[in-house]
Amino acid sequence: MPETPERNNILDYTPEELETIVTGMGGQKFRAKQVFGWLSKGAATYDEMSNVPKDLREKLAEKYPSWLPEAVRMQKSKDGTVKCLFRFADGTEVESVFMKYEYGNSICISSQCGCRMGCTFCASTMDGLARGLTGGEMLGQVLAMRNLTGSDIGHVVIMGMGEPFDNYEEVSRFIRLIHDSRGYGLGLRNITVSTCGIIPKIKEFAKDFPQVNLAVSLHAPNQQIRQKSMPVAKKYGYDELMRACREYTEITGRRITFEYAVIDGLNDSAACAEELAGRLKGWLTHVNLIPLNEVEGRDYRTANGKSVKRFKDILDKNGVAVTVRRTLGNDIDAACGQLRRRHAG
Ligand code: SF4
Repeated sequence: MPETPERNNILDYTPEELETIVTGMGGQKFRAKQVFGWLSKGAATYDEMSNVPKDLREKLAEKYPSWLPEAVRMQKSKDGTVKCLFRFADGTEVESVFMKYEYGNSICISSQCGCRMGCTFCASTMDGLARGLTGGEMLGQVLAMRNLTGSDIGHVVIMGMGEPFDNYEEVSRFIRLIHDSRGYGLGLRNITVSTCGIIPKIKEFAKDFPQVNLAVSLHAPNQQIRQKSMPVAKKYGYDELMRACREYTEITGRRITFEYAVIDGLNDSAACAEELAGRLKGWLTHVNLIPLNEVEGRDYRTANGKSVKRFKDILDKNGVAVTVRRTLGNDIDAACGQLRRRHAG
């Protein structure tokens, strides 16, 4: 399978691009907006597009027969979390997770099938990268999940399988598509992109999308510990990453979130917490402590509740904003990449 995504899904296109497609098929310009509107509402077939002329629908169906991914496996948790394995037309499978929070419903989507970043605690990277997803395929996960759950989705997090900044162009396209007020119209502040620390793209992102939230998977208080579990740290060192993150907050005026999976014996000591607090003190950040989702075939274990609490207390004491992420979907295969592997196995 090719690594670079090829756009051939009708969800990939902006209303302007759809105009070119529609007029090329002999349709009138304004039909493009109608089609875009139907797609954003979650239409799964052309038959639903009742105000679009039949001959145009037929021509579109010939070129772009289907667009929403098929849900090949679904798991529902008691707490309302829904995890879905979606399959695209070429057989590529990715995972998305729907979650209910006090502030509303959220979805975590994938930006690639597999991942080449090699984080040693992660299931998504175990088979490497199959291919990146197109912007339309990312949008398809949101629309299909909304159809499946029958619930509005007001927040999108790009934190599923894959490294979004390893597929920057398509992630950018997705953000523009879902934000478009002629379609889904999701506010930019309701979108979060999570990176493992690809520095040049952090800088680009700050300029391109200053209103979109950025989360950085940090998982360590220093370079030595970070590079043990995250190969990306060998290319983009810790101090350089911290400088880029500071620059991000200066350019955007926005708080940056650091994700920190608390792993037993690796990064959960009081010394680690003190070191991290020292680095982040007085800075516009938020630390999200995440109990690790343990993955079959990986040696890491989540830190116990006591050391997570100690970690949090130390950050608190130093005035660093910190929360312990509520674990959702504990009774299902919540760790990203697990559902796909289990299904394949
Ligand atoms: S944690 Fe994210 S960046 Fe790291 S291997 Fe997994 S999917 Fe890729």
